Amino acid sequence: MGVIENLVAISDGVCRSEVIGYSRSGRPLLLLTITEPSTPDTAKSGIWVDGDMHPSEVLGSTACLNLATRLVQGWNKDRRIQELLMHKVFYILPRWCVDAVDTYLTTPYYPRGNNSVAYEVVGRISLEDIDGDGIIREMRVPNPAGAWRISTLDLRLMVPRQPGDSGPFYDLFPEGRYHTHAKTEFDSFVDLNRNFPYQFVASYSSGPNPLSEPETAAVAQFIRSHPNIGLALNLHTWAGVILTPFANPEDSLTSGDQILYDYIAQVAKDTLGYPCIPGWKFSPAALGSRAGTFVDWLYQECGVLAMAVELWGPLRKAGVVSNYVDPMIPRSDQENKKFLDWLTNNIPNAVRSWQPFHHPDLGMVEIGGINRKFVLENPPPNSRLLQDEVEHFISFVLKLAEGLPLVRLVDCKMNWLGHHQIELQLTVENTGYWPTSVTKRAELILPPVTVTIRYADNIQTKWEVGNLDGYGVEHLLDWISGNGSSFRAIGRRRVSRRYRIRLPSNYRGPLEIVLSSPRAGLHRYTLHIKKC
Ligand SMILES: [Zn+2]
Repeated sequence: MGVIENLVAISDGVCRSEVIGYSRSGRPLLLLTITEPSTPDTAKSGIWVDGDMHPSEVLGSTACLNLATRLVQGWNKDRRIQELLMHKVFYILPRWCVDAVDTYLTTPYYPRGNNSVAYEVVGRISLEDIDGDGIIREMRVPNPAGAWRISTLDLRLMVPRQPGDSGPFYDLFPEGRYHTHAKTEFDSFVDLNRNFPYQFVASYSSGPNPLSEPETAAVAQFIRSHPNIGLALNLHTWAGVILTPFANPEDSLTSGDQILYDYIAQVAKDTLGYPCIPGWKFSPAALGSRAGTFVDWLYQECGVLAMAVELWGPLRKAGVVSNYVDPMIPRSDQENKKFLDWLTNNIPNAVRSWQPFHHPDLGMVEIGGINRKFVLENPPPNSRLLQDEVEHFISFVLKLAEGLPLVRLVDCKMNWLGHHQIELQLTVENTGYWPTSVTKRAELILPPVTVTIRYADNIQTKWEVGNLDGYGVEHLLDWISGNGSSFRAIGRRRVSRRYRIRLPSNYRGPLEIVLSSPRAGLHRYTLHIKKC
């Protein structure tokens, strides 16, 4: 039995799985829905978590499955989880880029985008595990005109050659076959995180059209049909940072939403130890290619409080450049040495010393270096480092999910006025931390909170309540006051309204009151009429 089938089987009905679509190669995209099952999931505030959108970032699926397991196991014994699953729903897609992940995990190759065929050419090298140790590392080849030399700090470390340096010098290549003529052809692949409609730019790696790929189309359709999703975490590796909208600096958040991300930044710092920055500040060198991201689309088109979570962060853990966010920033010899030492002390076999090898194209070379897949891109399987990372991630998710809105009819009074007339006084309150729409952006997109009163053959009257603040707003107002006490405005969290209703004569049936909101829950209340 697979991990997912097993989870569903032991879940007491709290967890179900469904296929939301199929990959290019026909593999199913399996989504887990985890919530207390007696209320429909769409009537609850939802949180979306996806893993393995990029095939080399498989810590995402591990984090997703550990989160799902925690929720399922907690349902019977953990008060906190029970409370969450009563009023919220988790939608978890552990493995998004299913075809290419399979290749990543079962071969030495590094598939790109959503293509399971791994054919990567770097300059004249096509990546191959030449020495058959199962890992594509690096090769160095002696060359008096080479651009690299051995570090004076560590014999395993290669550093860029500067004018005036003394040799020996080397060429440095990824491990693979060497071609005398540079190959120019590309394998065809689409980076799923460039294939979303917002600010989409067609290119060989973003696809011909937005949502051209079956994997992205399936997810977009699911999310569009679930406006109850207010919060979304899109998992990646390996920088150790939270990325918020937008990927391009000319876009800006809807007024009022920055405070939500400020709160997320605080939770991320406390639980994961990561900084939280807008996407455009991350890897500025790659900025031009960051249109059409999932997170930007979630926020802009769906009003979802969305973020990319770049898990792991081995450089940060090694204490290399404490404010490090950009994998493309060149590091100093000392920093590389510090990182290598941390790896050596914390991950067995993370780094292999250079070993001579007879290369079919290049003659004698040396092969060595870091195990990129399970040291840089992901923590080693079954390691303490992996467990710690997943544990911190779960704390982060649970804390955020607990803030989701929940509207309730907190008071309902009825007075008889005579002549078949009644007066109702209804009070509605958001008991969550976030506003009922979660984001200000969503207020422009989704219908507001509404109360519908039904009686006698479907006569109905509607009260458009609008959006309600969460209690988090008070912290903001308090913060603005600056003195901690004198300015505790309560925001618009609780509203009341009186209704006069003339009932048909001799009507003795109940009044049904339905409080509905796209992403803050649904509350039904039946008022029985005793006197007429
Ligand atoms: Zn990624």
